[in-house]
Amino acid sequence: GDAKASNFLRQIIEADLAKGTYASRHWAGSPGDAAHQAAGQPDPAKIRTRFPPEPNGYLHVGHAKSICLNFGLARDYGGVCHLRFDDTNPEKEDTEYVDSIIDAVKWLGFSWEGQGGSHLYQASDYFDFMYRAAEALVERGHAYVDEQSAEDMRANRGDFTTAGTNSPFRGRTPAENLARLREMRDGQLPDGAAVLRAKIDMASPNINLRDPAIYRIRRATHHNTGDKWCIYPMYTYAHPIEDALEQITHSFCTLEFEDQRPFYDWLLERLTEAGLLASPPPRQYEFARLNLTYVITSKRKLAQLVNEKRVSGWDDPRMPTIVGLRRRGYTPEAIQLFAERIGVTKSDSWIDYSVLEGCLREDLENKAHRAMAVLDPVKLVMVNWAEVFGSDAHTEDCTQPALPHSAIADGQTPPPERRFKIGKEVWIEREDFEEVPPKGYKRLFPGNVVRLKGGYVIECTGCAKDAEGRVTEVHAKVIPGTKSGTPGADSVKAKAAITWVGVADGIAAEVRLYDRLFSDPHPDAGGKDFLSALNPDSLKVVQAWVEPSLATAQPDDKFQFERHGYFVADRVDHGVGGQAVFNRVTGLKDSWGK
Ligand code: ATP
Ligand code: MG
Ligand code: MG
Repeated sequence: GDAKASNFLRQIIEADLAKGTYASRHWAGSPGDAAHQAAGQPDPAKIRTRFPPEPNGYLHVGHAKSICLNFGLARDYGGVCHLRFDDTNPEKEDTEYVDSIIDAVKWLGFSWEGQGGSHLYQASDYFDFMYRAAEALVERGHAYVDEQSAEDMRANRGDFTTAGTNSPFRGRTPAENLARLREMRDGQLPDGAAVLRAKIDMASPNINLRDPAIYRIRRATHHNTGDKWCIYPMYTYAHPIEDALEQITHSFCTLEFEDQRPFYDWLLERLTEAGLLASPPPRQYEFARLNLTYVITSKRKLAQLVNEKRVSGWDDPRMPTIVGLRRRGYTPEAIQLFAERIGVTKSDSWIDYSVLEGCLREDLENKAHRAMAVLDPVKLVMVNWAEVFGSDAHTEDCTQPALPHSAIADGQTPPPERRFKIGKEVWIEREDFEEVPPKGYKRLFPGNVVRLKGGYVIECTGCAKDAEGRVTEVHAKVIPGTKSGTPGADSVKAKAAITWVGVADGIAAEVRLYDRLFSDPHPDAGGKDFLSALNPDSLKVVQAWVEPSLATAQPDDKFQFERHGYFVADRVDHGVGGQAVFNRVTGLKDSWGK
């Protein structure tokens, strides 16, 4: 793979390690444990990062970038990355998503184990602490209960050109606020009647500092805490606390959170002063999110594709979800290579889809066993077969390497050869025969000589057609003594070598030819209707013949079908009821943007 290129996040970590910024920290057990607040041992992890998804949907390729970044940096610098479910929004979350996220991170090749424990957390485990911290803020005059209407609150926030206006409730005493906060917690106020707000500065040029809401009333059953709470922390309040309790050192997030950083720092400073958090606090750093051409990553829009049945589900091989990429035939190694190659920057840009496909080709080139498949079959009959071999039923054994020489490293044992049979009849691609050849055509036409790859040289003699003039059979003569790998193989010169599958031993397969889901490189840019950008030809299903070496293919096994591209045995449908099902992962060459 590529050498790890430096980037601004690596430089930040390296500077912190050199200065020993986090060297004095202690690790006192998991934040959910009772022992957590006690003094512990020096933290065995040099750095702690986290990947904090909200369990409200399936992860996509953008999340994969964040996963590779956070887990990769922790691994490279002797640290650990926490997997944390940011489940502070009870209405939208589900354990189905929790399970799929765990699967996705593991599949991508990462682990949250080690360095003082198993670091799989859920933000809702900190609700008690978050509430205690809210009371501490109230007691110290840093928060107040606001009972303005939602409209007044919005109007009084001001905008980029005007300062905000203080709420009439802003002057309440800590004692009044504490009593009112407890009434909120105890269910004595209806939903939406009040919020707890941080007391910062209604004139701040950063609107996020104009007394942001930190708790709201919401009677909703939470998938972890049930009906214990009727007030829930806001994300901007919860997130810094989650980071601090888990003793995260570097909290990496996407650029849209840049304006939240002053509040992140303000909050952790106040809670450290209150003696609730240890120092040094975590620090937030922002990087540019992944934008990939021909792809949408909005969860809402992806859900719409699923709900309107425009795709077969979250794991449809055309979806940019991690389950979709996996079913399409992407490998964790290819996705990791992609994340490394696109790097991290501080400004938004578009990455071309061909970069992702290029990484997959690079990964599969030396791994995926070769095979022959005929996707648009027509029968070729060797009319002199019995004359040459004594019987129409005679077959000859053929072999071909599973991997080319170039794919095998020095000292590595090549995999066993592929074996198949050639007989009187074989399947060839319909496009490999032309009754009247166009200029420069080198494949089968009457009088032309070609090699059946790995088999014999043949001379085309003509064809049979049906009433509509459609070719039903191609006819040829086999030229004896020309079998590949035998001494006479090169005695007759062939103009081309074509792929084929024996009628005697070929296996019927369903092949799903996937193409890009959208025909527009920016399907949802500038308020466009992304549904109108759907590619009507993003899936074509064909009945194909594949060589017998594929009989033992297991779901998820990847192959290079010679000349056609990379294919994977479908992880859901392959083998069900004895049916072989292969998905096209990608072609052999870059066809994007053409
Ligand atoms: P979406 O916008 O698809 O709903 P989200 O950011 O709301 O995604 P989260 O579950 O909160 O979803 O994301 C978890 C982490 O993944 C966050 O730290 C977020 O910054 C990161 N992330 C999400 N989308 C991208 C992206 N396109 N590129 C890089 N990181 C991303
Ligand atoms: Mg989010
Ligand atoms: Mg989002």
